[in-house]
Amino acid sequence: MHSMSRAMLAVMLFCAVTAVRAQPAPADYVATATSEVIANFRRQIALHEAATTSRALTQAGQYLFFRNRQLIAQLVDYLAQPPLEQTAPRIVALLELLDARSDWRDIDRIALLGVINETRLRLPLGHPLAARLTKAREEIIAVRSAYNREVTAALARRAAGGAGARPEWNAYTALVREQYPVARILEDLKPELADASPGRADPRVARALDDEWSDGRLPPKTVLLTFDDGPHPQFTVEILQILAHYGLRAIFFEVGQNLGAAGDGPAQVTRNAAVVAEILRGGHAIGNHSFSHPLLPKLAAAQIDDEIDVTQGLLSAAAPGHAALFRPPYGARNDLVLGEIAERGLRSVLWNIDSRDWADPIPQSIAQRVIDEAEHEGRGIILFHDIHGRSVQALPIAIEGLLKRGFHFAHWDKDSGALAVDAAPAKKE
Ligand SMILES: [Zn+2]
Repeated sequence: MHSMSRAMLAVMLFCAVTAVRAQPAPADYVATATSEVIANFRRQIALHEAATTSRALTQAGQYLFFRNRQLIAQLVDYLAQPPLEQTAPRIVALLELLDARSDWRDIDRIALLGVINETRLRLPLGHPLAARLTKAREEIIAVRSAYNREVTAALARRAAGGAGARPEWNAYTALVREQYPVARILEDLKPELADASPGRADPRVARALDDEWSDGRLPPKTVLLTFDDGPHPQFTVEILQILAHYGLRAIFFEVGQNLGAAGDGPAQVTRNAAVVAEILRGGHAIGNHSFSHPLLPKLAAAQIDDEIDVTQGLLSAAAPGHAALFRPPYGARNDLVLGEIAERGLRSVLWNIDSRDWADPIPQSIAQRVIDEAEHEGRGIILFHDIHGRSVQALPIAIEGLLKRGFHFAHWDKDSGALAVDAAPAKKE
């Protein structure tokens, strides 16, 4: 009996130890996950600050952006998964971390805005920690507002002929660039990224390159709005409301896994169906942005086909006859990818005006970049992402600025398969 209970005790101890090992304490898990999110956020900003027109830096920055979104989704699942007695200590760990981490700068906390926001939205009504999450969210939004005001002040100085510096932002980016030299970030990511530039030897590829849009060959002073990586149940809907307000039509490049599953049988839109319906009701176009957002040049032909075809099936199920456009994730495509796109009669659509909303956390600054780039390029295709609050905040400011500078807007015309300039510049009363 005595030895039996010792054996049982040993088993119980073993189970307890393995349980602990399999599931770290909430504070440990939250600390590790948030630190990684913030490290990626800082790397994105370092790349963004260094990037001018370099495709390599942009690709690396967007890659980290997408990786962070996956990390954030996992962290939100961890924080918000019922039951209550499980979520409470996890959320408390996050809130305590926000107070305790004095090495996190105020901007760093913006990286966790999505975590707090989405966790809060997933909690049942009346959850005892909802109010504390709301307070944490408001504190971070106040930080963002302060940096927004700094941009506005800098723009006013620039308009008056001054330098337009942003001391607070510049202090942060100096710190980030010292911690994460761009060369090292690129070296670390090298095995994961693709260095692929298509050639023109294959006539099929050459034709696809001729068809590809970067600025859409739009008339001068004309821009096209595009939104990637959605649909998102909250932010896409908010963007649709803004576009409706200005009477504008955009293209939404959708990631298949946000719409439904890959599987045998007829494709069915099982996720965000209501959002897709709303996009179409607004007269917008939808395009294919792959199923799982991989770097396509890293994949074999069969995998590339699946990435395109599964999403194409989902888009056709959502909107027959609409899906004629394809945007490769990260703008990364090689001969093989372009060949597969061309074979399906799809047009590759890139962009020449990058809002950099994948790195820049400050809406006012995102909007100003779009306006400056549009002026500099003279025309073109603008890249936004409809999966972030900051993009929603930036959009009306950018539209107002473009209208004020006399820009026209274009949309994709389903019947002609071409871009058409809106009949009259949209006006806001
Ligand atoms: Zn994307």
